[in-house]
Amino acid sequence: MNRICPRCRKVYSYNLKGCPNGCNKKTRTESNRIYDKCQREHQSFYNSKEWKRLREACKNRFSNLCLWSLYKHKRVVTGTTAHHIVPLSEDKLKGSLLSNLVYLSDEAHREIHKLYESNQTGTIKEIREFIQVWEVETEGRGI
Ligand SMILES: [Zn+2]
Ligand SMILES: [Zn+2]
Repeated sequence: MNRICPRCRKVYSYNLKGCPNGCNKKTRTESNRIYDKCQREHQSFYNSKEWKRLREACKNRFSNLCLWSLYKHKRVVTGTTAHHIVPLSEDKLKGSLLSNLVYLSDEAHREIHKLYESNQTGTIKEIREFIQVWEVETEGRGI
């Protein structure tokens, strides 16, 4: 039996502990970094009732799907995380806006944070475009 590395798409045997390209470790390091940046300094916000409500609203808005996987990689993947398009650290007021949230899988979340470090404007623009496509596609449904 083989499995596929979600990070580099390498196919490898189940007998191996992780991806032979060392992706497990890289992913762990990145997750920790995201946690540090996104969560730690805003812990009270992320523990608030308001955030729980927002996160649910975001999940519902995108039907529990990872928007980035859907449009960037043409893959249907369940999301796990509500991500601030403009980070909380940069604009606290936007932190509570549903329009500033997108639903993502862990994998896509890491990818976006990495992308954001090298191209902030481009990353934000791309996510907003995907949301627009989603809005257009879902509006036509059931009417
Ligand atoms: Zn890999
Ligand atoms: Zn994030």
